[in-house]
Amino acid sequence: MSASTHYDVLIVGAGVTGTALLYQLAKFTDLSRLCLVEKYDSVASVNSHAHSNSQTIHCGDIETNYTLEKAAAVKRTAYMVVNYATKLAGEERDRIIHRMPKMVLGVGEAECRYIRARYETFKGLFPRMQLLEREDIAGIEPNVALVNGAWRDEEIVASGAPDDYCAVDFQALAQSFSDACVQMDRTTGKQITQLFSTKVDAIRKEDGGYVLQTNRGLLQARAVVVCAGGHSLLMAQEMGLGLEYSCLPVAGSFYFAPEALNGKVYRVQNPNLPFAAVHGDHDVKERGKTRFGPTALMLPMLERYDRSSIREFFKVLRFDRQVASVIWDQIKVPDIRRYILRNILYEVPKLNRHLFAKEIRKIVPSIRVEDISYAEGFGGIRPQLIDKTARKLRMGEAKFTDGAGIIFNMTPSPGGTSCLGSGEKDMRALATYLGARIDEPAFERELLMGQEDTRMHVANDEPAALAVAAS
Ligand SMILES: Cc1cc2nc3c(=O)[nH]c(=O)nc-3n(C[C@H](O)[C@H](O)[C@H](O)COP(=O)(O)OP(=O)(O)OC[C@H]3O[C@@H](n4cnc5c(N)ncnc54)[C@H](O)[C@@H]3O)c2cc1C
Repeated sequence: MSASTHYDVLIVGAGVTGTALLYQLAKFTDLSRLCLVEKYDSVASVNSHAHSNSQTIHCGDIETNYTLEKAAAVKRTAYMVVNYATKLAGEERDRIIHRMPKMVLGVGEAECRYIRARYETFKGLFPRMQLLEREDIAGIEPNVALVNGAWRDEEIVASGAPDDYCAVDFQALAQSFSDACVQMDRTTGKQITQLFSTKVDAIRKEDGGYVLQTNRGLLQARAVVVCAGGHSLLMAQEMGLGLEYSCLPVAGSFYFAPEALNGKVYRVQNPNLPFAAVHGDHDVKERGKTRFGPTALMLPMLERYDRSSIREFFKVLRFDRQVASVIWDQIKVPDIRRYILRNILYEVPKLNRHLFAKEIRKIVPSIRVEDISYAEGFGGIRPQLIDKTARKLRMGEAKFTDGAGIIFNMTPSPGGTSCLGSGEKDMRALATYLGARIDEPAFERELLMGQEDTRMHVANDEPAALAVAAS
């Protein structure tokens, strides 16, 4: 093996998580031999692609499933994306992040009461957040408040911001991280290699480091971070790690309507359901269209549109009594049963548009069935973890480590938003493990200051987010 294939850190997967980490290691540490490998020929071809997700910077203000504490932690990581992007030259910035109105909408008396109370609790954390009465909503999103020029029937109120950086093209963001690394490879003494069309087939621990077997030969590194979506769990389990977890891949599809919204309109989440209610988003890539979704349908594959990942799904499912009991716990809740059935029907041609139009009318009451179309080829997969020991479905991101130099990242929503937050945790863990130095002032300047100053917010190190797997 030649010296050029021996790296300090090797990252698997060039989605927004892997590219963000490569950027942070290259920019803020003194590690000088870094490599990223990706099986496709470009960055962000899977869940980080602009087609696959809802393009939202989740900072916690309009996500009703977040507690105040969770929102404070999420806000710090979300604003890292904003601080990074707003320091770029105008043209590149405008390809990545977008300002638009955003709100969470309450419909009917109970939801409106809830929105008003939540606004009082959260307004301190989000000083730009406003309580939006129906007149305000009509000024920002006329199609939400009005039907043919008259007020819609139900009582409505919302909280949100009329103009904020809240939309992002994660694919463009990943491209920007990757381009910055190409630049640093050329202009600094560091070797920052990005290998595309290179699939990692196996990882093994050897001589205090790691050897990766790829379709283009062996690569060697002192430390490895796997940022391969659902495939991270597969690779961990092939190394005998994370065996106490199983994966439930939840696909999300979208529907398009001609421009119905100027920004993002979220809804109050049913606390009995593990996923956010369908929302409407002004699409940042498909001009003139509003995207509604995502749906939530269990699909037996680790990567949407890749049939070969069906076999891989069954490998990580590791179906047994504990997995069955977690699934049963979900199915026995009537709200979840109805939700599962509805989401199956959203995929049935013809019937789906009728049913989905009904769902969208909670946001845009005047929408007609003929206005909407199923977004063919759009949507991705959220690899939700099942914790077999705790017999629970785990929401949000998770990390496994062997307690030494390898980390596996699982990144369901809001994994796009937290790419730099996840990268920060991995950068700090790797710096400790490899004895590297972090340029803290540069990190602070670049990611915690600028458009939003989050230096006073502590990093989120919820123990629940860090699962240390026994080998
Ligand atoms: C319907 C839906 C809506 C969402 N909406 C939002 C949202 O609004 N906001 C938000 O923050 N998040 C959202 N998310 C989540 C977000 O899209 C993901 O968390 C994020 O894109 C994950 O990025 P990643 O880099 O970890 O994974 P990915 O983008 O999936 O990248 C993984 C990479 O690993 C590569 N890879 C896999 N196996 C190998 C191998 N063996 N060898 C080499 N390379 C490999 C893949 O090719 C891929 O490029 C949504 C997700 C879905 C499905």
